[in-house]
Amino acid sequence: MKEAIELEKKEIVEIVEKQRRFFAIGKTRSVDFRIEQLLKLKAAIEGNEKKLLAALGKDLGKSEIEGYLSEIGLSLGEIDHMVRYLEQYARPKKVKTPLIYFGARSFVVSEPLGVVLILAPWNYPFQLLVSPLIGALAAGNCAVLKPSELAGNVSSAISEILRSAFPEEYLAVFEGGVETSTTLLDQKFDHIFFTGGEAVGKVVMKAAARHLTPVTLELGGKSPCIVEEDADLAIAARRIAWGKFLNAGQTCVAPDYLLVQKNAKRELLDFLKATIQDFFGADPIESPFYGRIIDERHFDRLEGLLADAEVFSGGHRVKSEKYFEPTLLHGVSPDSPIMSEEIFGPLLPVLEYEKLSDAIAFVNGRPKPLALYFFSGDKEKQQRILRETSSGGVCLNDTVIHISTNDLPFGGVGASGMGSYHGRASFDTFSHRKGVLRNTQAFDLKLKYPPYRLSLAFLKKMMPWTMR
Ligand code: NAD
Repeated sequence: MKEAIELEKKEIVEIVEKQRRFFAIGKTRSVDFRIEQLLKLKAAIEGNEKKLLAALGKDLGKSEIEGYLSEIGLSLGEIDHMVRYLEQYARPKKVKTPLIYFGARSFVVSEPLGVVLILAPWNYPFQLLVSPLIGALAAGNCAVLKPSELAGNVSSAISEILRSAFPEEYLAVFEGGVETSTTLLDQKFDHIFFTGGEAVGKVVMKAAARHLTPVTLELGGKSPCIVEEDADLAIAARRIAWGKFLNAGQTCVAPDYLLVQKNAKRELLDFLKATIQDFFGADPIESPFYGRIIDERHFDRLEGLLADAEVFSGGHRVKSEKYFEPTLLHGVSPDSPIMSEEIFGPLLPVLEYEKLSDAIAFVNGRPKPLALYFFSGDKEKQQRILRETSSGGVCLNDTVIHISTNDLPFGGVGASGMGSYHGRASFDTFSHRKGVLRNTQAFDLKLKYPPYRLSLAFLKKMMPWTMR
């Protein structure tokens, strides 16, 4: 065991070094090269689609439709977006130059960072590894990846696919758990992109600080969903149930809990119950479209959370199959464990409020969430939510889908993370935006040189005008 760890350590050190040398050659700086690599990635995914879907089925009980919709198809779409816009993203951007530097031009040049590390979680084990990878390659970096050990089938499938498509000096994958992560985090990278929980996020940031490496932390938290009584409750129920029970609730942006205006609570609960039956049938264990809990540890954790709530519907579970029924809970105390920790499973606590200001105060009294959902047709109230709350992202009258919009940056704020990605935001995250000013040699205004001939009074008048 110790020998294996030492061997892996040696290999990690060697590969990071190899990637540094490869990066230094400058090959990855060419936009054509990057596009070629993205297309190679696309071909590798498409050529192994069946294998990946089967692995997702084994690890999380994902149906082929769900696996394609939320993992493979999403990543292929992101590659297409990047290929289409890469030249535009990579082009130097001209910006204004203050008049005081008359004759000069200013522009922003995006340059690759170098060798980057991507650490992924288990819940969308393919997409959350590949999506940051797309940004890293598009921006011209070399990348070292570590998929999650908890989704073992996806981890080995994606590793095999990437290893056979790319040389390790450009893209390398290390499979493993905490020990592998720790060895990786001991190395000096130019950026670390981490998706996972808050506790490990802190470990990553601490390790990165040793090398002064910038980090993107895509964390989780409790994403609230607020429903006003004026909302179309039937539509709200479908959109909430879809976002919540997708991947058996193991989605970082799943609505964690519902805050419903008092008068609408009972009707919404009834709609939700009926919707769950429409989606997954009378007994969801039989449904090919309903997933499974990743492992027994998480199953037990979810079972523990049930203790403090009253089950409105659902609650059935079979440990040997890691099956946990979509479950609606009411009578939940705001101070109970289920309202303190991220649920990350198919339990939906439903709490009520009287006035919108109560719901806003409830949300603002807790750490800033990764997503916030609000259902109401009233534009004034929508603006109020945007103005008075803070969260990584927001969906008005829907859940989850904002994360698959390439032109929207996706990321957390406060306890839900730092930095963002997807589309242009991914390109920028994995680039250094270098500010460049090019001056003319045609003339040289001597005014700025000592001995200064300008009076201070004149300078004070002139500067604000010429610096605009
Ligand atoms: P995790 O933090 O346990 O693990 C994430 C990665 O870190 C894995 O690759 C794991 O091997 C590694 N790791 C675990 N312990 C480590 C340690 N001590 N030192 C170094 N590396 C370590 O997260 P998870 O359980 O895989 O995923 C669930 C969490 O991720 C939830 O909180 C969820 O909200 C969050 N999440 C966030 C997003 C997002 O996009 N913001 C997406 C999915 C999941």
